[in-house]
Amino acid sequence: MKINLTKTLLINFIIIILVSLITTGLISTYMIDNRFDVYLLEEHKEKIKNIQSIINSAIEKNRSHPDFAEEGLTRYALLENYYVRITDADNNLIYTTGKSHLMQNRIIGMGHNMMGPMMGRWMDRALGTYQEDVYTIELGDRVYGRVTIGYFGKSNMSAEAMVFKSTLYKSMLISLIIAILIGVLTSLLVSRQLGIPIKKITRASREITEGNLSVRTDTKTHIKEIYDLAHSINYLASSLQKQESLRKRLTSDMAHEIRTPIATVKSHIEAFLDGIWEATPDKIKTCHDEINRLSSLVENLEDINRLQKANHILDKTTFNLTEELRRIIDSIIPQFNKKNLKLNFQSKVNLNVFMDKGKFKQIMYNLLSNAFKYSYEDGTVNVDAYVENKNLIIKVQDFGMGISPTDLPHIFEHLYRGDPSRTRTTGGSGIGLTITKTLVEAHGGRIVAESDKEKGTVFTVTFPLSSLRKGT
Ligand code: ADP
Repeated sequence: MKINLTKTLLINFIIIILVSLITTGLISTYMIDNRFDVYLLEEHKEKIKNIQSIINSAIEKNRSHPDFAEEGLTRYALLENYYVRITDADNNLIYTTGKSHLMQNRIIGMGHNMMGPMMGRWMDRALGTYQEDVYTIELGDRVYGRVTIGYFGKSNMSAEAMVFKSTLYKSMLISLIIAILIGVLTSLLVSRQLGIPIKKITRASREITEGNLSVRTDTKTHIKEIYDLAHSINYLASSLQKQESLRKRLTSDMAHEIRTPIATVKSHIEAFLDGIWEATPDKIKTCHDEINRLSSLVENLEDINRLQKANHILDKTTFNLTEELRRIIDSIIPQFNKKNLKLNFQSKVNLNVFMDKGKFKQIMYNLLSNAFKYSYEDGTVNVDAYVENKNLIIKVQDFGMGISPTDLPHIFEHLYRGDPSRTRTTGGSGIGLTITKTLVEAHGGRIVAESDKEKGTVFTVTFPLSSLRKGT
């Protein structure tokens, strides 16, 4: 069974309140019973002693007609709520305070009269029952008489103590009611604070599962976890949306890419079959070229898969960065010469790096061959390597056709190609930069592109030096 947030919070708050108050109650009762009761018992004994000493001193003053009232017994008994009755050795009453003053009588009367029998009974229980103790008054070795001391209270506890105890219980009951009210209000408030954003997030994720990827949830909350959750949901939706549009793009691009060579090959072969064309080496070469394009397309697709599957297992070794860069540049110079492109290389580092040499080569070849493809004849390409802020930075700069601001954010995506008509001439397939980015990131680095249309492009690869050390 699933319980909603409000109920869960409410139940938990009430449990916490009850547990804490019951614990407090038990501890207080324990303290009262074990300490306060002892104290009160002592106090009670002290009072009995006082009464006895008042009686003794009155008898000492006048043995035949002691004046107990004069000695202060009446005042004391009234003040402390005791009933005192003194009889002589023959059981004749010689003094009594009467019982009318006992506070409890009044309270119980009040309880019975004003609050009905239920309340009266409760008061009886709370204040305790009336008790009497009898003591012998001795004078030398003979019995002078007897004193009866009466009072209300449980286990000799004074009535005030009983009132105190019952007041304590009452105040605990009131605190319990107030605490439960506060608990209910707090749980309602907290559940509102938590529940509303959670409901919104749930609604958004349900819409996402139903396919509405444009939905975004509101992130207005001061609760960090909920804020993070809302952000993750929004991020999830936007990346799913991106993936979705990429997938659509990929399929339409692939269809488009495949359709043209197939149509060319088909029309050529049909023309050969119908005898319209003769299968001249030229025409067969066109077919062959188109088939090559198809197979390189399939290879690219495989590359994408391999890239995702291989999880970029790197075969790292230590090598000198500048020497390796120099080798790469030297090997590509003949190609650059074909377009009369000048390739400047400047390295300000003398660094041994721990990287996958083959993958590093691939990164550089991809960037350099793009610079080659998208540069005009007689242009220049600069390659710089230097260290800045504990990072190794490699820049590949060209002054070619550049990338439009609309294409720039997408160039690292699978099969993304800026301006297809242009790439048809350059022969690109839109996979190079995806591979480059994945390889750079597999080495703990980053790659960014800056470009101005018709002015040129700079690719900056940054590797933290810490990620190029052995053991990383
Ligand atoms: P391609 O094989 O098409 O070059 P890439 O993934 O290497 O694929 O590049 C993606 C797109 O980025 C290219 O189609 C091109 O539009 C753009 N691009 C990449 N490098 C450059 C560059 N140096 N100058 C201009 N455009 C570039």
